[in-house]
Amino acid sequence: MEENLTSELNLAIRAIEDYPKPGIVFRDISTLLQNARAFRRAVDALVHPYVGIGLDQIAGIEARGFILGGAIAHQLTSGFVPIRKKGKLPGEKVSVAYSLEYGVDEMEMHRDAVNPGDKVLLVDDLIATGGTAEAAVKLLKEMGAEVVAACFVVDLPDLGGRKKIESLGVPVRTLIEFEGD
Ligand code: AMP
Repeated sequence: MEENLTSELNLAIRAIEDYPKPGIVFRDISTLLQNARAFRRAVDALVHPYVGIGLDQIAGIEARGFILGGAIAHQLTSGFVPIRKKGKLPGEKVSVAYSLEYGVDEMEMHRDAVNPGDKVLLVDDLIATGGTAEAAVKLLKEMGAEVVAACFVVDLPDLGGRKKIESLGVPVRTLIEFEGD
């Protein structure tokens, strides 16, 4: 990634130690979102490889993936599909269970949100273990979508998420990496 974009993102993303629990460094993109220039540059960089390839839908993972995904969809003139935590969507849904550090949770998408063969870009703010993104890829593929790529602002490479998603045949693109978890 371009050197000065990396340093701009590095300055714009806040690290909060011991959140949500001791030992975790939370990479908080709210400081990036409130920085107009950094927000614009991050969205432009995420959009760049996909201009003109005819993406049908941008699928954003609740909640920070909605903010980035909405901006990306607008810029690419694509639709936007929300992938949400259990119980939030009103229509007929498909759901998938996924593992959290302790226990399991479920993620849902409207059954009619994508059509078979739709080209979809998956978006979230950060990839750690890749469990969340893997569940989203499963939902999209179950409905017959082609997941063209998954993109994230932040990669925590030590947690292996990128490899997990790439092993599903979905290319991963990220803008900045931070060591550790
Ligand atoms: P994972 O399923 O392990 O890849 O976790 C990714 C999801 O959890 C994303 O929706 C992130 O927003 C959130 N997340 C996990 N770890 C962090 C972290 N260190 N800082 C900020 N968000 C995180």
